[in-house]
Formats: sequence, structure tokens, C-alpha cells
Amino acid sequence: GFLNQELAIMTGLAEAVMVDVQCIMPALAKAAKNFHTKVITTSRKGKMIDAVHIQYDERRAKEVAREILKMAIDNYGNRTTEGSRVHDTADVIAGFSHEYIAYMQGGRFRASFRPLNDAIMAGRIRGVAAVVGCNNPRIAAQDSIHDYLATEFVKNDVLVVTTGCGAAACAKAGYMTPETALEMAGPGLKEVCEAIGIPPVLHLGACVDNSRILTVTTEMAQEGGLGEDISDLPAVGIAPEWMSEKALAIGCYFVASGVYVIFGSEHPAKASQEVQRIMTEVWEERVGGRLEFIPDPEEILKKSLEHIDAKREALKLRKYEPGRFGVERKLMSMEDRRKLESAARPHEGVK
Ligand code: SF4
Repeated sequence: GFLNQELAIMTGLAEAVMVDVQCIMPALAKAAKNFHTKVITTSRKGKMIDAVHIQYDERRAKEVAREILKMAIDNYGNRTTEGSRVHDTADVIAGFSHEYIAYMQGGRFRASFRPLNDAIMAGRIRGVAAVVGCNNPRIAAQDSIHDYLATEFVKNDVLVVTTGCGAAACAKAGYMTPETALEMAGPGLKEVCEAIGIPPVLHLGACVDNSRILTVTTEMAQEGGLGEDISDLPAVGIAPEWMSEKALAIGCYFVASGVYVIFGSEHPAKASQEVQRIMTEVWEERVGGRLEFIPDPEEILKKSLEHIDAKREALKLRKYEPGRFGVERKLMSMEDRRKLESAARPHEGVK
């Protein structure tokens, strides 16, 4: 995450940090001089004093990547610590591309989004929430809104997908292992996570990988059973601690694709009722999505769940009932089973 980049270097365990153009602390290379870490810039627009520059070129992408990787490996010998400064650790399973999400639902031969759509249609999974974007030191406790929303959604049987600094927040909190599903997920979501072997919070990559989330939603819409368009899905996109202008650009392309998007702050155009009307009512009418700014995390959760339930209702799906799925079933004895079966076949044994 953006706010952890210097901390990562301070562990003494990073051989190289590679950066491009944004969300990089300007003094990063200077800070790295106190450790063995090499900071490598890759864009002409984002060079830094004290950093090594290796220019990225799409035509030689693999070659450039190998050069950077080799530089990091060669630097391993200069490491002087085994991580004694790192006290708290958490396991993370990350890297769920849309291809992999399809693969894990059916293997190589039957990879598809059918099981996910079926689970949503049945009400095992209530809907999907993308909780993404920046973390922010201006709120009471950085990461806390990401953590709050991720846990509340998961408890309410909503599958969470995340990227960027929000993903780093969830990873630090330990929400990204399948075991997490057993501990905190609602019973329906837990059943699905156990069956597939996934965490209830899926890490889809950096914040520039938010496009992957749209690919997932496109696949879900195309798979069938959840409407015709992304705007029909019981899904919501949230950037609860946003602070970068890039987050706004991403939020807008989500809205343009039909997603209901919530940003966690006061409205930057609060003074204009007209701008607010355009970003909500007018955009929804034209492209299916809307953009709202809501500072209160509890209100974000409430409006998100209301939206998900409203979309379920519009699709005429079964009403979501907490606890309907995944509850423990009583194992029947053979005697009870025989009684049931004979009741079901009254003609048998009748003279
Ligand atoms: S999530 Fe926000 S802070 Fe983090 S890298 Fe992306 S734009 Fe920067």
C-alpha cells in the first residue's frame, strides 16, 4: 500500500522496489539509501535522485523485467537482516485474475462463472462488493474503514473483491486466507468458499487492476441469470478511504460501466446540487451507474446492502435470508430414515 512503502524498505528484506509514475513518496529513494534496497524507476516521467533508472519499453517488456529481476537477485547478498524488525505477520493468498476465478470454479475443462452466478441466484451469496482504493491517514485510523466494510460484508454473505491499498489493508488484517472464511463469513458464503477453497476477500491486484473487476462483472453478466448488463448485477463498488485523483478516474469508469459507486468522504462538489444530481440521477439514467459520496462507514454499508437487495428483487431472485444456507444439519439414524421412507411410500406393505 501507498502508506506502507517506506515501512517495507525498513524491514531490510526488500532487495528492490520498482516504481512507475504515481503514488510514490518523493523521498523513497533517499530513505532506501539507509538500507540495501535498490529503488528502480521505469518511466521517463518519474525519475528520482538516488534511484537506478531502467527505462520500460513495451517492445522489450520481458527483457526489461528480467534485467530488473536480476538486479534484485544480485542484491540479495547485501541483505544483512533476517527480518528481526518484523513482529506481526499475516498469511496472504493473492493474485486472483478473472481467468483464475473462472478456473477455480471449474478447472481447466469447465472454467466458468456459472457456480458464482448460481450461488448468487440461490441466495447463498447475497451479492458482490468491490472494496478498493487508497487508504488514508486523514481518517481516525488508517485502514479501519476497509477492515470494517470487508468484515461486515463477509458476515452478510457478500463476496468481497479488493485491489490496491485496500487489498493491502485486508491482507494486513489477515482476511486473505481460506481459513478466514471459516471464522467470519456468513454461512452461505462460507459454504461456497469452503467448496472452492478461496478466501471470502479476493485480492485482484494493484489499483490499476480494477479493470479486472469490471472483466469479472462482464463475465458474470454474460454468463446469464443475473440480467443483461453490469448495471443489473447485485454488486457495488466502494472506495471508502480514497485520496488520489486516480481513484476518481477509476470510480468514473466504473459508473460509466453501470456500477453503483460510493466514495467515502464529503462530496467535493457539495456546494452544487446540480452537479450532485448529474452524478447520480442523470448518470444512472444514461449509463446505469451513479456516484455518491458518503462519509459515514455505517451508512456506506447500509446503502450498499440496500442496493444489492434491490437489484436481487429487480432480477426476481430469491429474497436473501440470513442463515438459510450452510446451517448444520442433523445426521439421521437408519431407523429414522426408514420411518421417513415408509411414510413416503404408503402403498408398500399395504395388504
Ligand atoms: S489505491 Fe490509491 S493510494 Fe493506493 S496506489 Fe492506488 S491510487 Fe495510490
